[in-house]
Amino acid sequence: ADCARIQRVTVLGATGSIGKSTLDVIARHPQRYRLHALTAYRSRETLRDQCLVHRPEVAVLGEERDADWLRDALAEAGIDTQVRAGEAALSEVAGSADSDVVMAAIMGAAGLMPTLAAVRAGKRVLLANKEALVMSGALFMDAVEQHGAVLLPIDSEHNAIYQCLPTEHRGGLVRHGVTQLLLTASGGPFRDWSQAQLKAVTPEQACAHPNWSMGRKISVDSATLMNKGLELIEACWLFDARADQVQVVVHPQSVVHSMAAYSDGSVIAQLGNPDMRTPIAYGLAWPERIDAGVAPLDLFQVARLDFEAPDEARFPCLRLAREAMAAGGTAPATLNAANEVAVEAFLDARLGFAEIPRLVASVCEACEVHSAHELSAVLAADEVARREAERQLVRFTS
Ligand code: NAD
Ligand code: MG
Repeated sequence: ADCARIQRVTVLGATGSIGKSTLDVIARHPQRYRLHALTAYRSRETLRDQCLVHRPEVAVLGEERDADWLRDALAEAGIDTQVRAGEAALSEVAGSADSDVVMAAIMGAAGLMPTLAAVRAGKRVLLANKEALVMSGALFMDAVEQHGAVLLPIDSEHNAIYQCLPTEHRGGLVRHGVTQLLLTASGGPFRDWSQAQLKAVTPEQACAHPNWSMGRKISVDSATLMNKGLELIEACWLFDARADQVQVVVHPQSVVHSMAAYSDGSVIAQLGNPDMRTPIAYGLAWPERIDAGVAPLDLFQVARLDFEAPDEARFPCLRLAREAMAAGGTAPATLNAANEVAVEAFLDARLGFAEIPRLVASVCEACEVHSAHELSAVLAADEVARREAERQLVRFTS
């Protein structure tokens, strides 16, 4: 019955890499989807262009000043999209009764409140914004359960694992005969680089990922392997797994998107070209399948699949994430906040590449771990860690 009528979709972070891919898939299926709302932070020109093409009912920007500009631009074009601004508007739109599906594709901790608003409104939530789940894990998953939201992972690895697990996988993996989740990692652009070479990495080099074209923050995370660390935490929450049930496997071709290993020796993998439109289309159409505009996988061209163990000596972020997950409570929120500050400082040339894990480790050590049952505790941990990271940055930049 669900698919008999048009699904109304809201895209949070529409102007980003995931947002654009989402609009690309949606535009291929005008009979299935209609856009309710598009949101962006500062990219008002891009949002205007998207409004001209997709005609959403609502558009949201970060600042009132930009919203005024967009209102004028759309009025001039004769488009009656309602334009709003600010964090409160963002969360209202995310939980609005006028949409069925919410793509959570804002970057970083800024996505937590609107993503939670969508969950609490019981939406079908397509989760790209892994930081939101990493920060608030238990609370987030409880809200999904309590409000009957349908949570579909868009992160390619988690989407792959979701496809490799039995439809009903709640209640722990072991119950369903799953012994291990194999989380693949491209290894990033510096997989083979020595410790000495890593010291001199520039933001431009870090943002040029070999297999995926992504936003700048996640590109840096992929290069430090913090992205895989955040994904390890994400997998634990999404699939009710212990950290030791998740094995990171470096796979430079990014063709196997992840795997599930079963007690009978079976390993089920999901393969495909590295194109985020595949998991996005899966999330939009689930349990059906739709065209994503992705070229069929040519295995003869791929020719070989390589696998190796990650090197945690050169890429300590993976270990830091594992430790934060083990510490529990607000520790992952602290890790995430410290990393966001470190990555921003690196992109501003205020911190060296090899110093990102050093700063994150140092902030994690300095910040106390609290219970994360209350949202206020999560938000406080985020704020304290940011302040601590900014304070410590001075030491690192001298
Ligand atoms: P991006 O930087 O390209 O886009 C981010 C979007 O969020 C933009 O629309 C921006 O306007 C909006 N935004 C940024 N800061 C905001 C704020 N403070 N308030 C409101 N909106 C804000 O990022 P991306 O690569 O599209 O990634 C988005 C999310 O998806 C991230 O959490 C990332 O980890 C996750 N993800 C991305 C990919 C990928 O291939 N790009 C893959 C897996 C997961
Ligand atoms: Mg991923």
